[in-house]
Amino acid sequence: MLLWQGVQTRVVDARKSDDGPRLIPAPGDPVPPAGATVRGAIDDTRRSTLMRTHSGLHILCGTVFRDFGALVTGGNMQPGEARMDFNLPEVPPGFKQALEDAVNAEVAADRKIVARVLPREEALQIPTLVRTQDALPPLHEPEIRIIDIVGLDVQADGGTHVASTAQVGRVEVVKVESKGRQNRRVRIRLAPA
Ligand SMILES: [Zn+2]
Repeated sequence: MLLWQGVQTRVVDARKSDDGPRLIPAPGDPVPPAGATVRGAIDDTRRSTLMRTHSGLHILCGTVFRDFGALVTGGNMQPGEARMDFNLPEVPPGFKQALEDAVNAEVAADRKIVARVLPREEALQIPTLVRTQDALPPLHEPEIRIIDIVGLDVQADGGTHVASTAQVGRVEVVKVESKGRQNRRVRIRLAPA
């Protein structure tokens, strides 16, 4: 939210535009006049839950790549719930439970999660840098931010994360669905913090 002159403006979305990020206010909320000094504040519960969820997705895709060799084809998240699609034509028997066990073993291992910014050329040497099929970091960025789940997964990423896998908490693999011949959709849910 934005805080200004004793007033709060709830921000419900943000979009990119040519002249910078554009904040979308909640319908009906007052907006600050042009030139007003504002302070920004974050909903800590929502943000912290999203950080845990996002890190949980990285554990998931690192584990699926390591154990099943499958790349990511898409994904989405809400606080505490997420889905990720994988290019996995053959689903091995017992996949759902094996995956849940493997992900929670990584949570229990309490691996550090580290953000680093590397020169583009150096980052591109990391073989696993781009885990999402057909997605490359923006061409003209001289530096690339990476998220390293130490010992499990390194990838280019611009998001917010918790500092270690234990902070994600227990992850439930809710469902594995077929989405076409190649794609499998994995839905996860986090235990309450
Ligand atoms: Zn990410």
